[in-house]
Amino acid sequence: MTSAFATRDGSKWMPQYLTAIDGTTCIGCGRCFKVCSRDVMHLYGVDDAGEILGPCNDDDDDDFDGELNRMIMVVDHEGRCVGCGACARVCPKNCQTHVAADKITA
Ligand code: SF4
Ligand code: SF4
Repeated sequence: MTSAFATRDGSKWMPQYLTAIDGTTCIGCGRCFKVCSRDVMHLYGVDDAGEILGPCNDDDDDDFDGELNRMIMVVDHEGRCVGCGACARVCPKNCQTHVAADKITA
């Protein structure tokens, strides 16, 4: 299949969209969030059993009524991703899944 994507100079470019983050290996370091310009993922609280409690907001110290065990990054707006791959370059745990644009089903 011919790529429908190109860089500014016309070179072929295949976006690699972030589709998932493995919550069992993510350490919630936030590096991917910091480099992403598209607001695709956010930190969520997780309890002792691994259940997601909800999004962690910057403006409060919500510990989810004492249930908070750790934080993980969750892909909660995957449709915003432009497939730049920056998040993959900074992740120290290799816990992200990216899918090439020509492999994404609509
Ligand atoms: S591939 Fe780029 S746009 Fe998509 S989530 Fe990662 S940093 Fe954000
Ligand atoms: S960079 Fe990797 S380990 Fe850190 S929050 Fe993002 S997905 Fe998790």
